[in-house]
Amino acid sequence: MTLFSDLGLNDSILKAIGDLGFQTPTPIQEKTIPTILSSANDVVALAQTGTGKTAGFGLPVLQLIDNDLRQPQALVLAPTRELCLQIASDLTRFSKHISNLNIAAIYGGASIVPQIKMLKAGVQIVVGTPGRTLDVIRRGALRLGRIKWLVLDEADEMLNMGFKEDLDEILLSTPSEKQTLLFSATMPNEVRDIANLYMNNAVEIAVGAKNAAADNVKHEYYMVKAADRYLALKRLADINPKIYGIVFCRTRQETKEVADKLIQDGYNADALHGDLSQAQRDYVMNRFRNKSLQLLIATDVAARGLDVNDLTHVINYNLPDDPEVYIHRSGRTGRAGKSGVSMTIIHSRETRKIKELEKISGKHFELKLVPSGREICEKRLFTVLDKLERIEVDENEISDFLPLAIKKLSWLDKDELIKRLVGLEFNHFIEYYKGAPDLNVAQEKEKDSTSNKRQQKRNKTYSRFYINLGLKNGLNATSLIGLINELTDDKSIDIGKIDILRKFSFFEIEKDFEQKILSSFNGVVYENIPVKVEVTAPADDNFDKNDRFGFERRKVKEDLGPQAARKPKKQRGGNDWSEVNQRRGGKFKDNRFGDNNHRDKRRKKR
Ligand code: ADP
Ligand code: MG
Repeated sequence: MTLFSDLGLNDSILKAIGDLGFQTPTPIQEKTIPTILSSANDVVALAQTGTGKTAGFGLPVLQLIDNDLRQPQALVLAPTRELCLQIASDLTRFSKHISNLNIAAIYGGASIVPQIKMLKAGVQIVVGTPGRTLDVIRRGALRLGRIKWLVLDEADEMLNMGFKEDLDEILLSTPSEKQTLLFSATMPNEVRDIANLYMNNAVEIAVGAKNAAADNVKHEYYMVKAADRYLALKRLADINPKIYGIVFCRTRQETKEVADKLIQDGYNADALHGDLSQAQRDYVMNRFRNKSLQLLIATDVAARGLDVNDLTHVINYNLPDDPEVYIHRSGRTGRAGKSGVSMTIIHSRETRKIKELEKISGKHFELKLVPSGREICEKRLFTVLDKLERIEVDENEISDFLPLAIKKLSWLDKDELIKRLVGLEFNHFIEYYKGAPDLNVAQEKEKDSTSNKRQQKRNKTYSRFYINLGLKNGLNATSLIGLINELTDDKSIDIGKIDILRKFSFFEIEKDFEQKILSSFNGVVYENIPVKVEVTAPADDNFDKNDRFGFERRKVKEDLGPQAARKPKKQRGGNDWSEVNQRRGGKFKDNRFGDNNHRDKRRKKR
């Protein structure tokens, strides 16, 4: 086991971290501290939130600072005011036993005057947000000529927040002889660009697999209609009476809406987002930290500065665009050996994102059912009863009042008493969930039945046809299905896989209808091209890797509809072939009947 004293730290620092009760260095600290102490190499350090990155750069830099020199030697940039304050306060605690060391926090949303005063008084370390830091540089209050360490903390978030240009400008005004230390939870391309641009031969230190999600976090997802997201969220909160968690939303607006509704519905919740004043933000954060709040509704950016480690749940009200952000969010639960749950509410078309997350994180995501009203009522009831059983009654304190209570309730027998007690704590749940609908869509059962259907279809024998029309002729899966339906005049014929290529295409039809297809297409002319349809060899299964067109008919309508709609020019496709044909001026000719009004003719024929 490595000790802090093995890392080359001096006594005053060791004493300070001893005071803080840090026993052993975290994995990232084990690597960054000796590297920074012993070399001038630039460092890129990647580790999840909560892994002690602040001490990872703070301790060695504090040790190396020349405290006799009253000039800024280290500049730490961080994305938010909260983080600046947190880092400055951590550094102050780490340097408790170092004399003559001054640290300034420079951030927006507060008067610049005292900050400038502080800088003028002489500080060795500046911790700032990019915007305000640039401001004090431009005002001549901060000179970077003697900077030896430049720390970019939460670099990914600084870029997310649009600080790229500010960073560029600040970085350009630092001396080239310096050690740049970039700390980040994730390494998106933008961060890599910064590293490539401003760092030289950086040592890259990553702890754990960069993308790995914490091990003791269970990942669950719930599939509902988009409109039912909020109701699902409520149920998830209701079924977890002791929840202490963050609900992540995508936008400020969504954050506000969700929090407002929850508050209105009586939940112990509040919102954290950028539109709040500093005082409001501090207030909300403090209430959440000391657990007076159970649910914090927040955007990713707003939640960054929050150092809360013991969440029971992280709820993704909406999935972030960047999978790494999900991993970062879920890393806020399941800390310090405790188990945690990361729940995600999705709608049915987002399953692909779940698959992607599974791939990136290497974790299994379990599809769970949104609890029914009944399950929630049972759970809440159990919680109430459990509380009742465990409640400690101070007989001395209540003995004066007991006779009155006993007398008043003496006419109730035990069953009645229990009934009323339960009602008292519990009526509103029963009321609320009376007749509440099932919110789940495309649950496993349903999914099974579709895959069964697919399986059945696979088991059916199909004939595969070649047709000499393709994308070039304006054919797509929808229009081909329309064509088949129209020409056979029988919508019950099962169509299998369709492969549309540029000049020709393939489609599968139940074998029994082979002759019918051949005769229906016989002599048809499409866009002045005599249509040729032939039975061909069965498909090589590797032919169309992703089975893009292999949908059921219903699905093609759903999935290829927008694709068809994306071709505004000719409005091809659509299922009513004759209508399309008319619009096109009758290019599609059914020669058997001598004109293009084949449908009527065929009816006459019958
Ligand atoms: P990060 O920047 O990686 O998100 P922080 O530096 O904010 O993490 O540290 C998270 C928490 O862990 C802080 O409360 C910090 O005081 C604590 N901490 C850091 N290093 C250690 C350590 N070696 N032992 C115990 N606690 C630590
Ligand atoms: Mg940090």
